[in-house]
Amino acid sequence: MENMEPLRVLELYSGIGGMHYALKESSVPAEVVAAVDVNTTANEIYRHNFPKTPLLPKTIEGMTLQDFDKLNFDVILMSPPCQPFTRIGLQGDVADPRTKSFLYILELLPRLSKRPCFILLENVKGFETSAARDALLKTLRESDYSFQEFLISPTSLGIPNSRLRYFLIAKRPPGSFSFQTSAEIMEGLPMSESPDSLTVPHNNPTSSECEREKSGTIIFKMETEQELERKRMQDSQETVRRLQDFLQEDEQDMDQYLLPPKTLLRYALLMDVVQPSFRRSVCFTKGYGHYVEGTGSVLQSCVDVELESAFKNLEQLSEADKLKQLLQLKLRYFTPREIANLMGFPADFTFPKHISVKQQYRVLGNSLNVHVVSHLIRLMISK
Ligand code: SAH
Repeated sequence: MENMEPLRVLELYSGIGGMHYALKESSVPAEVVAAVDVNTTANEIYRHNFPKTPLLPKTIEGMTLQDFDKLNFDVILMSPPCQPFTRIGLQGDVADPRTKSFLYILELLPRLSKRPCFILLENVKGFETSAARDALLKTLRESDYSFQEFLISPTSLGIPNSRLRYFLIAKRPPGSFSFQTSAEIMEGLPMSESPDSLTVPHNNPTSSECEREKSGTIIFKMETEQELERKRMQDSQETVRRLQDFLQEDEQDMDQYLLPPKTLLRYALLMDVVQPSFRRSVCFTKGYGHYVEGTGSVLQSCVDVELESAFKNLEQLSEADKLKQLLQLKLRYFTPREIANLMGFPADFTFPKHISVKQQYRVLGNSLNVHVVSHLIRLMISK
């Protein structure tokens, strides 16, 4: 790869630049010739970290075929909006207005004066059963690409965070991948791309990961025996690192991340509580730190008290006693930096001063695991 001409990369739906960081990490010689996104907050963060990259603050469907042709790119990296394909979204699929720009890209692809040699797409689990995916595969077949689909969670790379996502890598001319493609969706990376010592069995997401379960004023998390067993298994997987490796110990102002009493009283039983020594956390989504339900794990920062004993008989206690018991745990949100660490963002990734914590959670929740994508980029480009 060292003697290659730098590839010209187009980063669509660039957000805070997760794809750009993955590209850097892959050490493939490449240059992002343009990043495109409409979100002003995400764009500020992108510019702050990649001041030299041309960032086009416009809609994709607002760009013409000529605009794309002028960029003369070899690679497309893209993460189209996922809301039309999530289980808790309305599942608008191709009828959803947010899918319009993606269908526009599919329409343009065969008409480009030079079709890119490589395409990588990231989306949520659920995309694989959508009509948008059918349209994508049809376009790729008609435009002479080989492709491979994946469902991968960072846990398969030894990272203690579940974030099961759909990925597709495509390459021209057909038949040029360095590995045997399959019509089946691969679960995890092929062996050569996942460091042996780190390979762990693929874990399916729990049904509770993004769903809601309510009853009365206190909200209960309905955990099946199977889910509890899965969590115990995950914690005993020594190939997965402990959360403590990703935590910020130096942070001064940690109190701002403590769960407020109202939240503790109402949601305590619904939350996924983890300790620094654990080897798991659930997917952090964009409502984290704001909505508690199914948006990400919370950290028990005082482990002198056992979780089970603090949660025991909670129902029978008065509000005041309940609160007293829960406060002992010092439950706090993961900080944006800690989430960025779990998502594989390097230490030099930072937010501009004026971006609020809530905005930071939001853009991180929309982003991707940098390490997973970096492996896929290498797999896509290797000869
Ligand atoms: N991979 C990105 C996040 C992708 S989320 C990251 O690492 O941060 C999807 C992004 O698509 C959002 O930032 C959203 O602002 C942008 N987007 C949605 N529709 C768009 C459109 N029609 N044109 C350009 N950008 C769009």
